[in-house]
Amino acid sequence: MMSMKDVQNEIIRHRQTSDFKSTVFFVNPEHEYLNAEMRGVIIEKMFSEVPYMAVNSPCFCGSGKKQKLCHPDIHPNSLAAQLLRVFHKLDTEISWIDRTMCHKGCSDCCSNDFEISLAEFMMIFRTINLEMKKEQIESLIKIAKQGKFNLGEQCVLLNPDNKSCSVYKVRPIICRKYGYYKNFTDCEKIQSNVSAFDSLLTSNFDTDENINIFHNNGKIFYSQKRTIVYWLSKCNSDGFTVEKLNKLYFACFNRPLNDYIRIIKL
Ligand code: SF4
Ligand code: SF4
Ligand SMILES: [Zn+2]
Repeated sequence: MMSMKDVQNEIIRHRQTSDFKSTVFFVNPEHEYLNAEMRGVIIEKMFSEVPYMAVNSPCFCGSGKKQKLCHPDIHPNSLAAQLLRVFHKLDTEISWIDRTMCHKGCSDCCSNDFEISLAEFMMIFRTINLEMKKEQIESLIKIAKQGKFNLGEQCVLLNPDNKSCSVYKVRPIICRKYGYYKNFTDCEKIQSNVSAFDSLLTSNFDTDENINIFHNNGKIFYSQKRTIVYWLSKCNSDGFTVEKLNKLYFACFNRPLNDYIRIIKL
């Protein structure tokens, strides 16, 4: 049986190597590119249909790269794509932060004293699945499941050797908002002094504090915020141990936002 990570890697490979064929690959699961085992996994876990993706056009995330070279495995209308757009917008808005003081290696703000939305965690979990060895992931999950991680300790995702964030590119909103702001002595104050934050998340997301609240057709859906170790404790190295969370995980990246919402309501 292929792991979820294998499937994700296979998707990346196909989308990067063939434009039109990658569409056929997903729209028609009977296509010869797939072996039977993989067809089974994809049909069962991920797709019944996937709309055409213009993989040669600029990536939705704002990087300026072609999508097929940037985020080929993420649906441009998915929740994950929304979140990546927010990350990009936020980073642009706070590009004035003084990074001579606030740089790699300074990690005083990286405690585990915060909660993040499921969407943010899913982005992290996808990244560690793509970038970390299985043993590393299992070790993180083991720590989380042991429940010995006290609030105030260093974040479990902080690399203890070089004191850098192991998921820096997809770090949560709350981590992005910290920085050294030269008119203040307290790094945290940056949060309340960036007016742009309030206007950042007005379309599908509500406020930066509630990235997990999103609007759709006038309705608001909530999912709870939890600590990173809490979310990790709901995983094994292949995915979430709760079936509904697993469905949401794949919908988060591979399905339009409406499908994600449909699963939440199930
Ligand atoms: S996720 Fe990264 S940036 Fe955020 S607290 Fe953890 S190590 Fe620091
Ligand atoms: S926000 Fe403050 S504590 Fe955190 S990395 Fe920047 S300067 Fe260091
Ligand atoms: Zn991208």
